[in-house]
Amino acid sequence: MINPIFKNSFVYDYFTAFLKSDKRFPQSIVLEGFDTIFQYFFALELFRILNCLGDKTPNCTCTNCNWVKENRHPAFIQVTPVDFKDDGSKTVISVKQIEKVTSAIFETSDYHRFFIFSNVKTGTIQDKDKNNLLKYSDAGYTTEKEDWLPLPLNKKILQEEASNALLKSTEEAPNKVTFVFLCNNREDIISTIVSRSLLFKTPVENSKSSIDASQFLKDYPNISIKEGINRISSIMNYADENNLDYIDILDSFEENLLNVLKNNFENRQIFNMVNSDIQKIQLAKKQLMATVLPNNVLENLFISISPEGRNL
Ligand SMILES: [Zn+2]
Repeated sequence: MINPIFKNSFVYDYFTAFLKSDKRFPQSIVLEGFDTIFQYFFALELFRILNCLGDKTPNCTCTNCNWVKENRHPAFIQVTPVDFKDDGSKTVISVKQIEKVTSAIFETSDYHRFFIFSNVKTGTIQDKDKNNLLKYSDAGYTTEKEDWLPLPLNKKILQEEASNALLKSTEEAPNKVTFVFLCNNREDIISTIVSRSLLFKTPVENSKSSIDASQFLKDYPNISIKEGINRISSIMNYADENNLDYIDILDSFEENLLNVLKNNFENRQIFNMVNSDIQKIQLAKKQLMATVLPNNVLENLFISISPEGRNL
């Protein structure tokens, strides 16, 4: 039924049980959590199962399941500041859009229709998000456009007037229409919508293993002080561009050195050196958590793991 890539989450357990019952599917759902990509694909997966004409398994190849996986099913409707829109504004979900939704829900349809409300990011997808998307593309799911990513809603995107207009639709929606709201926190959506919806917390993204900062450790263990300090600005750019925490980067450093360690169990001298460098990385993480400036932390780290610095 629900694809196991969504396992280990409350929504997976809840809807696995729910879909076995013959209860009416909820009209309005709020998904709350920091992994918007998970929320988006989970909504798509629920939509797939509700519209499947086959055995409902993740491998089903009925027309609807195929359309869903290619993300071109006409009844899965993304409502964002740029999608499902005729007016010119690009920064909000407008009242006009809500009117369009309202009239759409009363058109007859053979499908169980989903209206997904989110913010949106268009343009180049950053490495961190690409890594997160991989899990879904490996399972055969895709976003509608390659340069399109869902972002969480907030009250600037879905403002009070549009929210109020929508409220009426959520109450009057006919059978087989479901509204889904993607957000980090329920506070980001007007409370009257939240109170009329089923609210679910979704899991946080597990990004740790997906970051590879090994490029910045090139030539380790022979990175000179000068070379190490030269790399700091690239590391900071990399963190900025990919929306990463410096601790994520140090996690990746630690993982890299642990691999070096594993390959050098026989060589006592190298083993001890790498082991001691790992402790320096762990110290650097503590300093970052204690809000020492990242630039200073990285500088100290590169000095302490350089051939010159190790002997200081
Ligand atoms: Zn199917």
